[in-house]
Amino acid sequence: MGTKIDDLVAKNEKLSREVFAPGADEIDRGRRFPRENILALGQSGLLGLLVPAEYGGAGAGIPEMAQVLEQMARGCPSTAMIALMHYCGTAVVAAKGSAKVKRELLPGVARGQHLTTLAFSEAGSGAHFYAPVSQVSRNGQGPTLSARKSFVTSAGEAESYVVSARKVNAAGPLDIDLYLVPKGTKGFEVERHFEGLGLAGNASAPMKLEQVPLDPEKRLGDEGSGFQTLMEVVLPHFQIGSASVSLGVAAAAYQAAVTHVSNRKYEHTGGTALAAIPRVQFLAAEMALELRSARGYLNETIRRVVARDPEAMLDVLGIKARAAEASLAVASRAMTLGGGAAFGRRGGLERIFRDAQACSVMAPTTDVLKDFLGKACLGLPLF
Ligand SMILES: Cc1cc2nc3c(=O)[nH]c(=O)nc-3n(C[C@H](O)[C@H](O)[C@H](O)COP(=O)(O)OP(=O)(O)OC[C@H]3O[C@@H](n4cnc5c(N)ncnc54)[C@H](O)[C@@H]3O)c2cc1C
Repeated sequence: MGTKIDDLVAKNEKLSREVFAPGADEIDRGRRFPRENILALGQSGLLGLLVPAEYGGAGAGIPEMAQVLEQMARGCPSTAMIALMHYCGTAVVAAKGSAKVKRELLPGVARGQHLTTLAFSEAGSGAHFYAPVSQVSRNGQGPTLSARKSFVTSAGEAESYVVSARKVNAAGPLDIDLYLVPKGTKGFEVERHFEGLGLAGNASAPMKLEQVPLDPEKRLGDEGSGFQTLMEVVLPHFQIGSASVSLGVAAAAYQAAVTHVSNRKYEHTGGTALAAIPRVQFLAAEMALELRSARGYLNETIRRVVARDPEAMLDVLGIKARAAEASLAVASRAMTLGGGAAFGRRGGLERIFRDAQACSVMAPTTDVLKDFLGKACLGLPLF
């Protein structure tokens, strides 16, 4: 790992501990976008983590992204989810953007002045986010798009959006294009933010595109290559990044529960701690096993992706599901151990428990991933 990246990892650790964690409950209760955290990520160079060095970024890859996101999610999961979608968008632009798009966007990302995100999901295909029902049309003026994107992280807050749609004259639902659409483009509007159960700060909202003019130079890759980009670029970044966020949330839940059971004392037993009770120790052991086995699987998945192992795709599919399940299991036990204090929203555990729910319902959902994985295990086609 180069010094610039080491430095960013250290800055992120400090920010997460000293800035993100102390502010996370207030951001959740206010259901507000953590603009100050995003500014801090920008100023420290962390928004440019995946930007190639020739455009002024750190030139880091998936292993460093995973490390950074897990640490960020320990402090503020909403901030980590915003960063995850930004890293996915950045990776697509760096891999598939034209020379002009890269020159226009990547230096700004590296300077921390540009946040991007993904606008893929549509109500018409839901958890099957890889199959948009909207379609690019072409008239005399060039390509346009009308679409309803159902959930977009950083909606209205990001400076640009990587948008998916079926290409003109698509042969089927997987024959898609990806376009970069800048904020403020005519016909591109944020609809009412929904009140999510968790990740309340990530500004998720539907977005409506009404005859939005698409700049052919901002198509990311050749016409019809969008699905391949989803598989080769978005999927490894998103799956591993989402798993890292889940693990960060799980680690925060575990830590909060350990602190609670160590500090909670009973007068009627002469001041013994909750931690002295065997059932509490048993739950702590189960939490530690969930966390450690999911982290081991994540590290193995990253190793295989970096080594370009032909089996890596199975783990890329599996790790998001496994980490999301581990996060739910740890957070649920942490709530049990937190008792009335956690139920009464003291100590942050209840917020962490709600945040833990998000990764399993974000597409590809845990069940959809198991559907894919089962097919892959049995040698059946995935699509
Ligand atoms: C906090 C949050 C942030 C998000 N951010 C973004 C974003 O930035 N960009 C973006 O594009 N999208 C984003 N999404 C959207 C997300 O990726 C999904 O598209 C969305 O959550 C799917 O919801 P749905 O209700 O339409 O799913 P549905 O398709 O209605 O699915 C409902 C349930 O059915 C199950 N199901 C469906 N098909 C199968 C199957 N074949 N096998 C087994 N079970 C199945 C699913 O697992 C799910 O549990 C976000 C979602 C959340 C919750």
